[in-house]
Amino acid sequence: MKPNLLGLSREKMKALFSELEEKPFRAQQVMQWIHQRGVLDLNEMTDISKVLRGKLEQLVEIRAPKVVADYPSEDGSHKWIIEVASGSRVEMVFIPEGSRGTLCVSSQAGCSLDCSFCATGKQGFNSNLTVAEIIGQVWLARQQLDGFDAAAQRRISNVVMMGMGEPLMNFEPVMDAVSLMMDDWAYGLSKRKVTISTSGVVPAIRRMKEYTDASLAVSLHAPNDALRSSIMPINKKYPIAELMDAVKEYMSSLQDKRVPVIEYTVIKGVNDHRQHARELAELLKTLPCKINLIPFNPFSLSDYRRPSDSVISNFREILQRAGFTVTVRTTRADDIGAACGQLVGDVEDQTRRQERHARRAEARQNEASEHSGQSRVERARILASTGKAAASDPLVLGS
Ligand code: SF4
Repeated sequence: MKPNLLGLSREKMKALFSELEEKPFRAQQVMQWIHQRGVLDLNEMTDISKVLRGKLEQLVEIRAPKVVADYPSEDGSHKWIIEVASGSRVEMVFIPEGSRGTLCVSSQAGCSLDCSFCATGKQGFNSNLTVAEIIGQVWLARQQLDGFDAAAQRRISNVVMMGMGEPLMNFEPVMDAVSLMMDDWAYGLSKRKVTISTSGVVPAIRRMKEYTDASLAVSLHAPNDALRSSIMPINKKYPIAELMDAVKEYMSSLQDKRVPVIEYTVIKGVNDHRQHARELAELLKTLPCKINLIPFNPFSLSDYRRPSDSVISNFREILQRAGFTVTVRTTRADDIGAACGQLVGDVEDQTRRQERHARRAEARQNEASEHSGQSRVERARILASTGKAAASDPLVLGS
């Protein structure tokens, strides 16, 4: 397969031109054509000689992923469904904030980690995305939102790796894509504005400092190991104490004073008790951080519910009284199924997890119907509509 220039980091692009015995500034020219002017056709790169363009045409390709559906939300957010080489479909979401906004990017088609509150997890896993498929989401969003005209307003001010997948389970491609997001020859975003979000792949967090100084968010979602392991299976392998150590180590490797964001999805009757908030404050007292509370966003295949506003506000107050900066994530784009935790795409599952979750949902539905005395016909109708809803669910924002 020919290398895709869209996904080459600065180092790899320079190495390519050095192999071709060309000057290093050619790497800069080509990267700027692709990422800053939006040009994917070598023939339009007019400051590159015809001979070199001809040589490149033989050796490489420049290909962005394909947008297959486009959903604008009433609140100004936007979701795109993108087809990747494996045939799966993944989602990316843009959430505007005034004249700027945050792009939420996917790193995998599906996810192998199966957190119980996450729709992506229920999709099972298909494949890792390539660098071109990850950075291609930023390229596509820029093209779709503003175009590449030099005078066009640049609306993407932040990129978060919080779409489908666990970014650190696709380590090298994510690191290269993140380096392109922050590269002045590409998108030039500040390291404070590019965030890698992880559910806690401890060895990968420990490796991160050798590759990047991007910002970090940690999907914690529970204040103790017993509860966390019950909703996030990865905690059985990398318990909270190890995770906290790895996060502290990464943060202390950064040159500036930045703190990680601790993500906490608040689920009714699961992790929303006052005692959980107190325990969380105790756990985090030695880790300077910001806490982001995410009221659970319901989706089919999940019985979890969102807590009431007063429960969320009590939870927040306890943390604030303990001295933490706490934000509550407002639900955005839920009319297009792009709220946090709702992304599902269309993943050709390799793990048969979709099947297992659908069977369990069916069994729960049967049981509930029997208790409520529903007729068999009624049950069949409800099951049919449940299956349809599951298949068409939009992607869930993950890690
Ligand atoms: S929350 Fe993140 S790590 Fe967990 S299943 Fe969802 S995408 Fe995977």
